[in-house]
Amino acid sequence: MKYPTIDSIKFKDKTVFVRVDFNVSLDEAGKIRDDSRIKASLPTIHFLREKGAKLVLASHLGRPKGERDVKYTLLPVARRLAELLETEVLFPDDCVGMEVKKLVTDLRDKGVVLLENLRFHKGEEDNDPLFAERLASLADIYVNDAFGTLHRAHASTAGMVKHFKEKAIGRLVEKEVNFLGKLVSEPEKPYVVVLGGAKVSDKIAVIENLLNVADHIIIGGGMAYTFLKAQGFDIGKSLFEEQRLSVARRMLERAKVKGIDLILPSDHIIASKFENEASYQVAKNGDDWNDWMGLDIGPDSIAHFSAVITRARTVFWNGPMGVYEMEHFRDGTNAIAKALAESKAMTVVGGGDSLSAVNKSGFADRITHLSTGGGASLEFLEGKDLPGLKVLL
Ligand code: AMP
Repeated sequence: MKYPTIDSIKFKDKTVFVRVDFNVSLDEAGKIRDDSRIKASLPTIHFLREKGAKLVLASHLGRPKGERDVKYTLLPVARRLAELLETEVLFPDDCVGMEVKKLVTDLRDKGVVLLENLRFHKGEEDNDPLFAERLASLADIYVNDAFGTLHRAHASTAGMVKHFKEKAIGRLVEKEVNFLGKLVSEPEKPYVVVLGGAKVSDKIAVIENLLNVADHIIIGGGMAYTFLKAQGFDIGKSLFEEQRLSVARRMLERAKVKGIDLILPSDHIIASKFENEASYQVAKNGDDWNDWMGLDIGPDSIAHFSAVITRARTVFWNGPMGVYEMEHFRDGTNAIAKALAESKAMTVVGGGDSLSAVNKSGFADRITHLSTGGGASLEFLEGKDLPGLKVLL
């Protein structure tokens, strides 16, 4: 492991700042919809407490834009965490300041403080040096276990780290780096990457890099239509990024030159409107789509994509194949989840929408690794040094 882990540090009687990802989704009543992100940090928390550390946990929640907003308080998380740890979790109403400092100084052995939402301060996202220093003054050792935020250079993920001599990645980040690292360096071949979701623009850099390592790149979802348009097909009113046409053309060219199999859907479920209740039918590339729009991949594409996945030894998937939030347009996404589940390959699904699609499909427990970070896992695959990891070297 290139990065220092929590096995290399003595934690007894030390105060440890742990950057966690407790960015859970809350319902209108402020109740936690899904506590898996809290549970994902428990291995690190348990380990540090067993080693005799006092913990200062810190996270962001939602996008409060640098101001205090009760809608985004971490209080429900503090309560849930206390239940899961079966211990008291102290919860001050800020993340810096005299009161917080006193609470942390008075911590008992193995005591746990969860700071209030870091993004209540503008300094967090601005990576303000003064705010970073105030956070750093709370602890002796720094641990980052928030994989989903490592691609952001914020005060809690980057700025504050230089104030610590002893720093490490937590168990969750360690696991992510291990699995995703295998995809970057010498993945077992054939290596198949499946990309979907709304936009080409979000995924250009990763496709560029994958053209150097993957054997097959399957592109579905809304982003496929810019590529199909670049090939001259009628895509009706499908999602389309005019400014990305030339990039799409260039990638198709580069794939051809490099002998990479870049696979686009050959048929689609097209709908008269962007609604679950709209009329829909199957259409092929080359058909006249009029004003209809492609909202899912079609049966031939499902069969082709699944066959390629079945032969793979390594598969990475990010982004749904269609508008999986609508019942009529989720067959493609479900079929890909099934193909991954049934494959003998090492399968990794990267964050966000693909993760919730896999969870909905019921195949989650048959995927080798479910990555917690969408953006972070893509940037990792781009071969970039993530800011939150670089500072730990
Ligand atoms: P992303 O955040 O880029 O992974 O995109 C996920 C979103 O892409 C989901 O909300 C999907 O509904 C949407 N999406 C997938 N396929 C299509 C499509 N063919 N047309 C419009 N939106 C799509």
